[in-house]
Amino acid sequence: MNSKPRGVPSGGRKGGAPPLPPPNSYIRQKTNKRNHNKRKPTWRNAKTHATANKTTATDPATAPTPTSIEPCYASFHNNTITCRSEDPTLAWNHVLSKSTAPCLQVSSVVPRTLFASPRAPETLRVVCISDTHGKHRRMTKDIPAGDVLIHAGDFTNCGHTSQIKDFCKWMAGMPHTHKILICGNHDITCDKDYYNGTAKNGQASWKRFHHNGKNDDVAARRALRETKNLIYLEDESIVIDGYSFYGSPWQPEFCDWAFNLDRGYPCKMMWEKIPTATDILITHGPPVGHGDMVSQQQRAGCVDLLSAVTERIRPLYHVFGHVHEGYGVTTNQTTTFINASTCTLSYRPNNAPIVFDLPRKNLNTIPSTKMESNNSGIIKISAKMKRTIALLTLILGSCCVFLLFQQPWHIHYIFLKDSVNGLLFDRSSLPTTMKDL
Ligand SMILES: [Zn+2]
Repeated sequence: MNSKPRGVPSGGRKGGAPPLPPPNSYIRQKTNKRNHNKRKPTWRNAKTHATANKTTATDPATAPTPTSIEPCYASFHNNTITCRSEDPTLAWNHVLSKSTAPCLQVSSVVPRTLFASPRAPETLRVVCISDTHGKHRRMTKDIPAGDVLIHAGDFTNCGHTSQIKDFCKWMAGMPHTHKILICGNHDITCDKDYYNGTAKNGQASWKRFHHNGKNDDVAARRALRETKNLIYLEDESIVIDGYSFYGSPWQPEFCDWAFNLDRGYPCKMMWEKIPTATDILITHGPPVGHGDMVSQQQRAGCVDLLSAVTERIRPLYHVFGHVHEGYGVTTNQTTTFINASTCTLSYRPNNAPIVFDLPRKNLNTIPSTKMESNNSGIIKISAKMKRTIALLTLILGSCCVFLLFQQPWHIHYIFLKDSVNGLLFDRSSLPTTMKDL
């Protein structure tokens, strides 16, 4: 999002861009029934997605059938506090007035924008940016080096395929070992159902933004998935150095942009898909109470997302963007919340990347089926493959020694025995008999 016209959450833009929704459109559209409900925003659809990934989800056949317009309640502090999900400002004020629970306290943290803070040895450095809105090559602050670069969505103005391809090329070329990307509401071509669906005003969604013709949305999505050295997450996890990263592009409905869900059950069910064992959560939109205050002093974060984060997932870090003026870092002493919006309220790419370091869990392996299927250039070597490589090394080494030195086989055997464990061709480790050859 971005809070364009006076505190309205991200969705509009200016300067050569498609027209912004009117300033009051957010409030107005909240009362309208979304007309492309055949895709994700219904409770039933969200439920279907959840059951496909979580064994704990309720059986739809026996579950109640609330709809997105029925009241939805979020719970906090071990279910001792409940509040309606639909109005984040009201919900947050209610929660704060009822509880002094540590998990609901918010403390500001000075963002680590680096260069100033030295990196501790044997740490995994994570660099966070978001909401670059097509200005990734014009960021005024340098991006610090690190192991993981996270972009939390809205990397385009309004999802032009050429801009998506250019961004993927730029991000894949960054020097960080791993580059993780999710979409935001502005990246409209990446939301297939949205882009090819019908907007609330009755016209094709793509026509609202792409006045020069429909873009090749298939190519846009292919660029996300097939760009080498780029990890695209859409309600998916990846494990890097023992830490689980989960990315999701969704956010509460705002001006009928992409990856929107009605507040209440649709959001609640989407967040149920997030694995509990998530260490670093990446969503485009913020939870309520953290980096979500828009310029009209209203909150735009998701109530159900905060409930999922504080009551169940409790990640180490939660990285997001969407509310540009919410840039900064807060904590509830369990989770550190990072609004990494690069663009300011006026869409200037002036905010510095935010950095955090994690103690390394595993310096040698990067287990991830996602990386293998994503053609990211990372090869996972299994134990079986290691044994095969070792055997081949012995055979080849054996042939080389035999051909080069023409020594009797018993000397050959001594050499090979000492060559195991990486000592091959290290003369200092050779048996005395071999040194004298
Ligand atoms: Zn934005």
